[in-house]
Amino acid sequence: MAKFTVKPNELSKINLIPPKKEWMDTPVEIKEHMYCHPAKIKELNVVGFPNAREWRPADEDWKLPAGWEQTILEGMQSLLKKYRSFSLFMDICVRCGACADKCHFYIGSGDPKNMPVLRAELMRSVYRGNFTLAGKILKKIAGARDLTVNVLKEWWYYFYQCTECRRCSVFCPYGIDQAEITMMGRELLNLLGLNIGWIAGPVAACYMKGNHLGLEPHTIKSTIELFVEDIETLTGIKIEPSFNRKGAEILFVTPSGDLFANPGTYTAMGYMMLFQELGLDYTWSTYASEGGNFGFFTTNEMAKRLNSKIYAEAKRLGVKWILGGECGHMWRVLHQYMDTWNGPADFLEEPVSPLTGTKFDNAKTTKMVHIVEFTADLIKNGKLKLDKSRNDHLKVTFHDSCNTSRGMGILEEPRYVINNVCNHFYEMPENTIREKTFCCGSGTGLNASENMELRMRGGFPRANAVKHVHDKYGVNMLANICAIDRATLSAAMDYWVPGVGVAGTHELVANALVMKGEKERTLDIRLEPLPGKEGNEEVSENV
Ligand code: SF4
Ligand code: SF4
Repeated sequence: MAKFTVKPNELSKINLIPPKKEWMDTPVEIKEHMYCHPAKIKELNVVGFPNAREWRPADEDWKLPAGWEQTILEGMQSLLKKYRSFSLFMDICVRCGACADKCHFYIGSGDPKNMPVLRAELMRSVYRGNFTLAGKILKKIAGARDLTVNVLKEWWYYFYQCTECRRCSVFCPYGIDQAEITMMGRELLNLLGLNIGWIAGPVAACYMKGNHLGLEPHTIKSTIELFVEDIETLTGIKIEPSFNRKGAEILFVTPSGDLFANPGTYTAMGYMMLFQELGLDYTWSTYASEGGNFGFFTTNEMAKRLNSKIYAEAKRLGVKWILGGECGHMWRVLHQYMDTWNGPADFLEEPVSPLTGTKFDNAKTTKMVHIVEFTADLIKNGKLKLDKSRNDHLKVTFHDSCNTSRGMGILEEPRYVINNVCNHFYEMPENTIREKTFCCGSGTGLNASENMELRMRGGFPRANAVKHVHDKYGVNMLANICAIDRATLSAAMDYWVPGVGVAGTHELVANALVMKGEKERTLDIRLEPLPGKEGNEEVSENV
């Protein structure tokens, strides 16, 4: 596939003129740079997913297994029985159109099949044609159609152009959740081996090694030890992290992305500095070494299997409760599914902060606390010494992750933390933040390089809001509490709003944190001079 080279000023010219024919008569066109490579055979085989084979989305023949139509329809029937939400969402849409212009992929592409209402119709039409009397008799008049190869291709193309962000559901008077429909669509496609590599690869790695990147225990340990060296250079304080330590009070679980690439690594260093300063009795696990769950983008059962290691490891180590790092979909899974999938975790205790005594009632059943809640509580109770001026080189705005905002209601805590560690914070426009936040455009496993046009189109509305505060206030840092955001928004900012960096909230905390016994800090976590400390060449050379 040729490299994606379209410039932002060209991509922002969005064609909103709909096709001449009705949507059912407009066949899907599989466009380069708008889809991900298929999953590899070995990745599907590792976890026992069916119908693994070589196939290419641009080919006419997808080498579908014999009887594929029956497989899909039986799968659909089973999901309709299993999930009341799915069955409800197939029936209740009144086509009011309130959701139509709310999807970042529609806004960024102008493709009507990216309107949430129409994305759902791709599946509803097949549902009507096969599971309703009116659809069976009246066919197209009742909005029904048969399941054909072209319909299947359309499903694949458009269910992998939905990041399950749930923004459309905020505006739907019935609360129809397109994310649930997309999840069902992907689950059905998975029955035919129609998964994508960027999802299946991390799933296979997580199943075999405990994390999406396939990091071995010794790699995790040595990576964290490199962070220890950097932190010592910055602060003069040597941290001694513990791994797989039985009897620790807290198991700390975070996305492996935080161990792998900048700027996530700075966030990981931030956690470590915070825990050191608190004297927290915690341990990393090299087995439950992934908070994220790409299984969630394949099947419910796969997500459950990958998730189970967190409670299993908490039990093995005998910890009291679990603290989780900054992530998006990790928290949707932990907050909304883990307890019923793999709980109840009765062997754990209701989380209580050992520093403030605060009981985290919201984590009473899951026994797992989000680090931004934990840190906000520390600040509220005066447990941290913070020097906000160390972040004075940053003008910060905050991107609400779709999952932590719409899926968990974590809206105030990150803002409270950021306002306590930074002097310059600016909100993006009201209709683009909190519950109405725009997706980064590359979630749910779409963070590949071959679908860059899709990602940049999907990231356009978020970037546009960042550009607004960049132009108006000089914002140069986009903070967040999600590992995927840290990866995806970096690319979106480079493309749409150059000059704006991306940082985890705990990177900002670590900059401001005044640690007991630290040497004079001259550099921030990125080894760049702190405000007022520019030109300290001696320290820079030592680094
Ligand atoms: S869930 Fe998000 S990506 Fe999917 S249709 Fe709705 S707004 Fe678009
Ligand atoms: S807002 Fe809800 S009811 Fe209206 S078209 Fe969209 S999904 Fe259907």
